[in-house]
Amino acid sequence: MASIAIENLAHSYIENPVRDADYALKSINYEWTDGGAYALLGPSGCGKTTLLNVISGLLTPSQGTIQFNNRNVTSLPPEERNIAQVFQFPVIYDTMTVAENLAFPLANRGLDKTEITTRVSQMLETLDLSTKAGKRANKLTADEKQKISLGRGLVRHDVNAILFDEPLTVIDPLMKWELRTQLKEIHQQLRHTMIYVTHDQTEALTFAEKVVVMHEGSVVQVGTPEELFNEPEHTFVGYFIGSPGMNILPVTVDGSHATIDGFPVSINGFYTPSKDARTELGIRPEHISIKATNGTRSPDYNELPVRVKRVSDIGRQIVIAVTLGNHTINLIVPEGTSVPEKHAFITFDTERISIFANDRRLSVASSS
Ligand code: ADP
Ligand code: MG
Repeated sequence: MASIAIENLAHSYIENPVRDADYALKSINYEWTDGGAYALLGPSGCGKTTLLNVISGLLTPSQGTIQFNNRNVTSLPPEERNIAQVFQFPVIYDTMTVAENLAFPLANRGLDKTEITTRVSQMLETLDLSTKAGKRANKLTADEKQKISLGRGLVRHDVNAILFDEPLTVIDPLMKWELRTQLKEIHQQLRHTMIYVTHDQTEALTFAEKVVVMHEGSVVQVGTPEELFNEPEHTFVGYFIGSPGMNILPVTVDGSHATIDGFPVSINGFYTPSKDARTELGIRPEHISIKATNGTRSPDYNELPVRVKRVSDIGRQIVIAVTLGNHTINLIVPEGTSVPEKHAFITFDTERISIFANDRRLSVASSS
């Protein structure tokens, strides 16, 4: 097992990159601690697979270094990095049996027969494939094949890290939940450094102790699920985490006052963004309340007059979309809340407001 440090790492698939947009990865610095469970989260195309392939050695980066336990491995080929990588689609030997597929990486490393048998039968049990041990791999369903791919990654104990690249894509939803839970248990038992790539926030937040959020080739925030929810460092994190995500509204900010489309909103803290910064207010749907309007706006600063656009009951909660001028704002309120039909006032929980300047979160009492 190893810590993995990347420094000033960038990668372009183009021979002579010039613009920022030519880079699939743009100057990334990060250290994965030995034994941690990490998720790499971001939308399709943001560079997750590129980063994983750079770590495993399938790709040589255009710039920067990778170290395992303080040893520079940037120019080492994959087989000398001792990394297990599980891909989005099954990589197995069709002509071997299920058990042989699992035994293969161990036999390759010269483990003795009894040890191999023990490990393989444990892994078969974990994957719920014991009854299929002797079956030829080509006779299996797509999810069974992918489970073997996972097993081939997990069966080795001597690896520096295990990298998973959206490994549950072909698995059906119920099984997904189960495998994710098992992966977490396996991590707790073996304490391998694990990096799990996904575009699905639920997968990332349930698997990982730390989530690395990527956006357009950069790491925009690393945090626990709570940190990402409560204190997004970038508007993208606010918007991407949560369902629906954080409302991001253009505002002008002066000290403890924000103005949205001419409506004043008081905010906690004191912000002095520079004049030319693009400032936005972030508020999560969970942190907005709604009430009926009697037509006149109360002198209370924080009530914003809105029109109710759409109401969706999602079980124990109601998602309401309202409009304030040109902006749509989403709210989540408990089931049973009385929802006005047309006109309403909404109020933001002042304590939960985030202020961003040029997409970066401003700390309370700060300037940009
Ligand atoms: P993700 O895994 O997050 O979906 P990728 O790392 O696959 O993202 O891709 C990041 C960017 O690099 C995308 O713009 C993608 O089109 C580009 N890209 C990925 N692989 C290649 C490749 N082999 N050749 C050229 N461009 C690529
Ligand atoms: Mg990918």
